[in-house]
Amino acid sequence: MSAPAPSIPSPATRIVIAGAGPAAQALVRQLELARFRGSITVLSNRDDASEELLELAGLPCVSVRFGQPASFIDAESRSVATADGMEFSYDQLVIATGSAPVAAPVEGAGRCLSYSTIDDATRIGEAVREVTRKLGRRPLGILVGTGAAAGQAEAVLRARGVRPIRTTVRPATVVPSISGSGLAASGVVFEDGSSMNGDLVVLAEERVSRDGLAASASLRTAPNGGIEIGQDFRTSVPGIWAIGDAAAFDGVRLGLLVAAASAAGACATQLMTAAPARQPAQVAA
Ligand SMILES: Cc1cc2nc3c(=O)[nH]c(=O)nc-3n(C[C@H](O)[C@H](O)[C@H](O)COP(=O)(O)OP(=O)(O)OC[C@H]3O[C@@H](n4cnc5c(N)ncnc54)[C@H](O)[C@@H]3O)c2cc1C
Repeated sequence: MSAPAPSIPSPATRIVIAGAGPAAQALVRQLELARFRGSITVLSNRDDASEELLELAGLPCVSVRFGQPASFIDAESRSVATADGMEFSYDQLVIATGSAPVAAPVEGAGRCLSYSTIDDATRIGEAVREVTRKLGRRPLGILVGTGAAAGQAEAVLRARGVRPIRTTVRPATVVPSISGSGLAASGVVFEDGSSMNGDLVVLAEERVSRDGLAASASLRTAPNGGIEIGQDFRTSVPGIWAIGDAAAFDGVRLGLLVAAASAAGACATQLMTAAPARQPAQVAA
């Protein structure tokens, strides 16, 4: 008879993850692969969930709390509070709150297409196909944005046959469609009253790390945003880690899926060996 497989030590018994995006999901998967035997609580600020997240929520050691934005960390007592006042105790806390657009939404932004998550490329592609069918010609797109997101959005639009006209000046408002493209908005108006009109509008604005949680626990942040981490993904406060777009190493946010996934893998290895915060119960002599 073969000996039973050695049980893998997992001293960090209660892991709380703030955020439920690709980095958080990759971390849960890695911990599962490493046969983590404690509990993992994932706090998501959203009410909806991808299939991947629902699948992870079904794992025995995982619980996902939807619609619960982590809003305050008490590093002393090792607990995280959500906006609704729920409290979750942790031995190890991982911040994976990702990134968000730098500026407040442009007025009327809800009417136009947005390139603000990686999944938006598919949504834009579907909308473009519909607009092209309706117009019976190559659509003219107004693209708002600077930086990498706008560059990617431009490539997405060109690849789908749109002629994009890009503006790096932020408009004051997005205006209802006059082009008959079938979309709710097809033009923008600027502060000085000038305007640009096309068949569709795409907003692709710069993003920064969502590092708002850092302040409550006095975590160090990078000058351009992002929770400062060392090579081992530890933040400046014991028991708190950061991965994905929320984190900055050497002042830089990598901002790529592949970076989030490899951070999750390396962080999972660290968490498996991290000392638990809870003292083991004293055994009577
Ligand atoms: C438009 C766009 C296109 C991209 N294209 C590519 C690409 O082609 N290739 C590539 O490798 N990468 C791409 N990226 C980058 C990639 O999407 C990110 O690097 C990746 O999503 C980072 O994952 P994350 O989990 O760290 O952050 P996010 O994806 O931002 O996820 C964070 C999650 O945490 C939640 N959250 C935020 N705050 C809280 C809180 N306080 N409490 C609880 N939950 C919270 C958010 O709702 C979100 O679900 C693109 C990004 C954008 C914006």
